[in-house]
Amino acid sequence: MSDLLITGGTVITVDEEGQIFDPGVIAVRGDEILYVGPAGGELPPYWKPQRVINAENKLVLPGLVNSHTHAAMVLFRGNGDDLSLQEWLENKIWPLENKLSAEAVYWGTLLAIAEMFLSGITAFADMYFFPDAIARAVAESGIRAAIAPGLLGISPDSATRLREAISFCQEWNGAAGGRVTTMLGPHAPYTCPPEYLAQSLAAARDIEVGIHIHLAETETEIRGIKDQYGVSPVAYLCRQDLSNVHILAAHCVHLEDADIDLLSQNNINVVHNPGSNLKLASGIAPVPRLLTAGIPVALGTDGAASNNNLDILEEARLVALIHKGYTGQPTVIPAEEALKMATANGAAALGLKRKCGRLKAGMKADLILIDRQQPHLYPRFNPLSALIYSARSSDVDTVIVNGEIVVERGELCTLDGEKIMHMAERQARKLLQ
Ligand SMILES: [Zn+2]
Repeated sequence: MSDLLITGGTVITVDEEGQIFDPGVIAVRGDEILYVGPAGGELPPYWKPQRVINAENKLVLPGLVNSHTHAAMVLFRGNGDDLSLQEWLENKIWPLENKLSAEAVYWGTLLAIAEMFLSGITAFADMYFFPDAIARAVAESGIRAAIAPGLLGISPDSATRLREAISFCQEWNGAAGGRVTTMLGPHAPYTCPPEYLAQSLAAARDIEVGIHIHLAETETEIRGIKDQYGVSPVAYLCRQDLSNVHILAAHCVHLEDADIDLLSQNNINVVHNPGSNLKLASGIAPVPRLLTAGIPVALGTDGAASNNNLDILEEARLVALIHKGYTGQPTVIPAEEALKMATANGAAALGLKRKCGRLKAGMKADLILIDRQQPHLYPRFNPLSALIYSARSSDVDTVIVNGEIVVERGELCTLDGEKIMHMAERQARKLLQ
C-alpha cells in the first residue's frame, strides 16, 4: 500500500454539502483519505505521495456499496429465470443450496467479488452459508464486506447454527485490516419464529454486531405473518427489543404508513433492491416515502440468481427511473439522491457510516475512477447526470479499497479472473449434477 495523490479529475465527494471539485485532488495516506479539495488546494506539508494517479477525464467518487446480496449465488445465475418466486425457490434454488460446499461458496464469492470490483463496488453486505469461506474470499481479494451467516429459525439445527454464527462473528469481526465486519443474519420473519429472533437479537447486542434480515418482501409474506401473528412483518420485528442493535432490513416492499413510522423510530436501515424486486415481481417499494421519512435507504442487487448481475450503478439508474414512472413525478429521486443511496447510505447500512461512503479527510480510502472519455458521456455538462443516467459500469477504470488499488485501467489487480471463472464454472456444474 503506497501513499497516493489522485489529481485532475472531477471529484464528487457525496459529503453533507454535496461538494464537487472540478478539478479536484485527493491525497491518500496508507488506508485513509488525508485530504480532499480543489486542485491547487493546500496539501499537508511534508507529505509526499509515492504514486500520482492522473484522473484527467475521470469522475472520482466514493466506492459503490452493494448493501444486500448473497454473493455466492452467482453460481446459480441464469438457472431458472421467468418463474414464480415459489417455483424458483422450491424447484431451482433450494435443491442446489442443499448441495453447497465451503469450496463452492469460496469460488462463487470470488467470482462475485471479481464482478463487483469491475463495476466499482468496494463494499458489500452478504448473507449466506459457509461464512468462513466468504470471509476468506473477502480477506484475499481486498474488498470490504459485512458478512452475516444466514440463519433459519425453522430448521432442526437452528440452535447449533446460531452458536456457530456467533463464533464466526467473534472470530472475524475487524479482520483483514478492518475490511471484514460481521452481522447475524436471521433470514426473515417467516423463517424465524419470535423466540429465535429474540435470541438472535440478544446475541447481536451481546457481541456488538448488527442484524441483516429480509423484511416485507412479498405479499405472501405479509399475509402469512398477519395470519400467524396478527401484525405486519415490520411490526413483528419491531415488537422485539431492538435497542442497541444495528438493523439492516432488505426489501421493505409492502409497507403501511405505521410500518414506515416504525422503521424510522427504530433507526432501521432499509435496503432497496429494485432489480430483484422487478424480476421476481415482488412489487415496488415506497422509496420516496421512506426517504421523506428520513430513512437512509441504500441499494442492493440481492443474489445474482434473481437479478441477474451485481451492478450497483444499474440499480442506481433503476431507482432513479422506476420511482419517477411509478409515482408520476419526474422530480423524485434525482441523480444526486440515487448516488447517495449507492454510496453514503450503503456505508450506513453496513454500519460503516464513519468509515466510508463519502470522500472526506479521515475516511477510509474506498474510491473509484470512472472514465469520462466515452461518446455516451459527451458533451460534459452535469457530472451527476452523466454518472447516473448515462455511464455504464464498464466505464469503471480504477478501484481503490482501504488505500489499495484493486482495479487499474479496467483490469483486476488482486484476483486472477481467468482462474476464478474456470473454478466457479466447475463448481456450478458440479452442483447441477
Ligand atoms: Zn436476499
